[in-house]
Amino acid sequence: MIGVVVALKTQSDFAADRLKTISEVIDKRPVIPAVLLKLMARGAAYYHHPLGEVIFTGLPKRLREGAALDAQAVAIWTAASSADPSETLKRAPKQLAVLHLLQSVPNGLAATEISDSIPAPHDALGALHRKGLVQQNYRQPAAAIRPTHTADTPPTLSNEQQAAVEQLLPGQTSFGVNLLDGVTGSGKTEVYLNLVAPIIEQGRQVLLLVPEISLTPQLVARFSARFPQGVVSYHSGLNETEKLTVWRQTANGEISIVLGTRSALFLPLPKLGYIIIDEEHDPSLKQGEGFRYHARDLAILRGQIENIPVLLGSATPSLETLANVARGRFGCVHLTHRAGNARPPTLHLVDLKRQNLLGGLSQTLIDKMQEHLGQQHQVLLFLNRRGYAPAMLCHECGFLIDCPRCDAHMTWHATLNALHCHHCGHASRPPRSCPDCGKAALQPVGAGTQKIEDVIHACFPDCSVIRIDRDSMRRKHALDDALQAIRDGKHQIIIGTQMLAKGHDFPNITLVGMIDVDQGLFSSDFHAAERVAQQVMQVSGRAGRGEHAGEVVIQTMQPEHPLLQTLLQHDYSAITNSLLSERELGLWPPYRHIALFRASAHVAADAQTCLNDILELAEALDMDDLELLGPAPAPLERRAGRFRYQLLLRSSSRSVLHRALNQLTPAIGKLKSARKARWSLDVDPVDLS
Ligand code: ADP
Ligand code: ZN
Repeated sequence: MIGVVVALKTQSDFAADRLKTISEVIDKRPVIPAVLLKLMARGAAYYHHPLGEVIFTGLPKRLREGAALDAQAVAIWTAASSADPSETLKRAPKQLAVLHLLQSVPNGLAATEISDSIPAPHDALGALHRKGLVQQNYRQPAAAIRPTHTADTPPTLSNEQQAAVEQLLPGQTSFGVNLLDGVTGSGKTEVYLNLVAPIIEQGRQVLLLVPEISLTPQLVARFSARFPQGVVSYHSGLNETEKLTVWRQTANGEISIVLGTRSALFLPLPKLGYIIIDEEHDPSLKQGEGFRYHARDLAILRGQIENIPVLLGSATPSLETLANVARGRFGCVHLTHRAGNARPPTLHLVDLKRQNLLGGLSQTLIDKMQEHLGQQHQVLLFLNRRGYAPAMLCHECGFLIDCPRCDAHMTWHATLNALHCHHCGHASRPPRSCPDCGKAALQPVGAGTQKIEDVIHACFPDCSVIRIDRDSMRRKHALDDALQAIRDGKHQIIIGTQMLAKGHDFPNITLVGMIDVDQGLFSSDFHAAERVAQQVMQVSGRAGRGEHAGEVVIQTMQPEHPLLQTLLQHDYSAITNSLLSERELGLWPPYRHIALFRASAHVAADAQTCLNDILELAEALDMDDLELLGPAPAPLERRAGRFRYQLLLRSSSRSVLHRALNQLTPAIGKLKSARKARWSLDVDPVDLS
């Protein structure tokens, strides 16, 4: 068992026979620096999650398994010859066993590896070494990871960029949070580069967090072109050895800039001087399971603990952040124009109710595509629904094929000739006839990205089309390669899901078609409207980032919807102002603080009972200003065969909410019903599904 010592005690609450001795101290200096441990402890308290799990969420796997922080050259033993040693060693069975083992492994083994099969091999190895039967070599620790780069010439900053840099630079000596609110293509990255330059010059370190791993390669290229010394990325795409190497390098201060996804927040950075959260509005900055932390919020906490500045960047800031700006807690700097000569794109709404559709595409969109392709530009079609068709319908009786384990329809995947459930992964062959009425009238309805790809091939046979979604990008590096191919102009038409919605810079895309924006307009989650607005702004931000003007075609059944009408004016702040008043009226964050208990079980009653018991505990607290909503079924009530329910806690005071949770969580651990269901707590949930 590997453990982390976080404090020493001279007495124990446990009986002596329940205590274990420490068999080996792995590290000579703390693996987790004091400030980081403080961050983890405060995070554990805020999210009401066990500290041990929080620490293990932060540590790379190799360290959790017992690798030492300081990489040492490891002695590797190899057999000196392959001659049969049975005769010479017949009186030394252990030495014989060790030598046999080494003869079977040409590259040799470390003593710890030998001890996996032969306990305590050290004496035997020593004896074999004296007899000249084995040799000892040293394996060097893994080499540092250094990306290749080509130096760039910094562009002259626009007036707005210059003003932003000048406004932010003076605050860089101590803690403070600022928002860089800059429209898509306004050159936020260039501002980041200018802000971190003096930090790097002082020999300090910079941490830049992004929501998506696909955004790191482009950023790494831009940062290493400006700062050739020590830029690394840290994300789930690295293998475990690479993660350990980055951890060691950052701990030793060898790295100046780390670009990473949310787990990079827990890297030891002894000389940390600046934290940037790019795309701060993105919900994927929040971890969805286990330790459900929001990387933006914990990054701000880290900035506070380390007394260093934190910069949030976005073209579509979250309502929470905007409220913090309005309350004067965060500073704010705007970039309202696109960098270089790029102009904002023009938006068009297409009313699908009055159109003849060709496989989901309106004639207006097809005409626009023809026009832009004719000018040798690229076109991006956005649809956040993978697969061929989102449902299989019987045209005789109206029966829809559902997942047997979820309250959801099965998605039809034409290439695999299979039905897949996108909620639990269940797969089946499509039946030949309707399971309900028996007629052979089953047909796919609606359009997913695969169907759009088919339609596009038929309409534009001379264009190269690439589809980017989770199905087509399974291979490692597939996405990096595809993004590069798009930038190189190898494809004229790009069909993509949210994988392509954010952050990417494709200068030659001038037309973006949003095939169906209606999915989010009528969701029960109070976050939905904000997400739709952000998605439309972000996706349309992919159009016209180069010198040619961009256009966006938005297809909808609800052209009169106020949200879409405001978006048409390209006025994000008008939308957020009205969404903020809705949140205030609806008593939702950022005007209230919420926490969500979820419970699931194979038997619905088990999950309900668990939450009813939690409700009873919460009612017994008898606290003012604590609202209890539920338990109620989750929007997808049954998923992968489990029934899911939720109980929401709401308060206008953060401290009241946390006082309640502090009392509740230990008590829930003692509930019998909590053992019959799987339950979890989500503080500041970003989605209520
Ligand atoms: P954002 O992150 O705000 O969407 P980027 O930082 O990706 O925008 O910049 C958009 C494009 O504008 C990039 O291609 C970048 O190289 C270019 N750019 C940024 N600043 C300038 C500038 N001052 N002059 C010319 N081009 C610029
Ligand atoms: Zn399912």
